Amino acid sequence: MALAELAARLNCAEYKNWVKAGHCLVLLRDALQRFAGEQLRAFHRQLLARSPARLAPPGRLCRGRCLPRGRQFQSSCSLCTEWKKEILNHHTNRNGEVHWGNCKPWLWPSNSWELAKAYMPRGQMDISGPDKCDAAALLNLFNFCDHFSGIDQKKVREVIKCRNELMHSSEMKVSSLWLEEFEKKIQNLLKELQNVPEVMTASTRIEKLLSSDWAVYIPGEEDQPDGLEGETEVCMSGSQISEIEMELIKERLKEIYLLVEEQEMLSEENLTRIQMTKNFLKDSGDLQISLQADMQRLEGLEKERYNQRRSMKETTKEYPNQEDDEGCSLKKMKCSPKEQLL
Ligand SMILES: [Zn+2]
Repeated sequence: MALAELAARLNCAEYKNWVKAGHCLVLLRDALQRFAGEQLRAFHRQLLARSPARLAPPGRLCRGRCLPRGRQFQSSCSLCTEWKKEILNHHTNRNGEVHWGNCKPWLWPSNSWELAKAYMPRGQMDISGPDKCDAAALLNLFNFCDHFSGIDQKKVREVIKCRNELMHSSEMKVSSLWLEEFEKKIQNLLKELQNVPEVMTASTRIEKLLSSDWAVYIPGEEDQPDGLEGETEVCMSGSQISEIEMELIKERLKEIYLLVEEQEMLSEENLTRIQMTKNFLKDSGDLQISLQADMQRLEGLEKERYNQRRSMKETTKEYPNQEDDEGCSLKKMKCSPKEQLL
């Protein structure tokens, strides 16, 4: 039954493209994790060796009171202040946003990954190492930490752009033309990193993945076509594809929750994304069983946003000429109990 539903979804070529592209990013991530971890340890060692008195003064520790929130971080101890300065010194966009909330600053002197998280997008707080993070986190690290400036940044940014388009696509669909362009960009980046031993394998796997048709054969319904067994490297089983699909949908959900956490007022576009994802799960009985909690959370979010909008419209109607008041009511709405939602 589940396989039949998966097969039906994959009948839509553009959805299949979306899942395939998402899996390419997983393969890219797998190939770069060890490299990223090693490089970060080396970067951390270099910083400590260059400025031991500033970054690891004997007997001085942060007592853990320096708590960043989102993009804000006012360190309350001198050690964290020095680390913050150092992190910014190596940031490729010093005026850009730093998601300090990702980090536990008191671990900076001893843990290289806590340092890495300052160069990553939001939502990394509980990620303890490279083996736990996604492709977007690694690509942003390469883009924003100057330790990686040896890699052609344009190639990194092109893949980041594709990744964002993929994850933000409200219909969870991409065209075959888009997929072709994406393959070029991801292979360009992999070429750039060909000294990393895992990269060449990833490059071949991506090529095979994108050239395979991902047909799901439902036992008992159809005969497997001749020659399938000889192509096992190319063909994946239905349950493997299903796992890939699930991982991708979970990433999309994570992204939606982070967005809601960050923006008190969701744009029309983001609200559409929530609705579309919810409808998608509704139509996919097999996925819904595993993602029931998410389904309820999405429904709750939708209802909450709808009520917020309605109350805003009513306030506008009541005080049509008082624009300032409307601003106030928006501010009041921002105080709505976010915690309950999330
Ligand atoms: Zn501190």
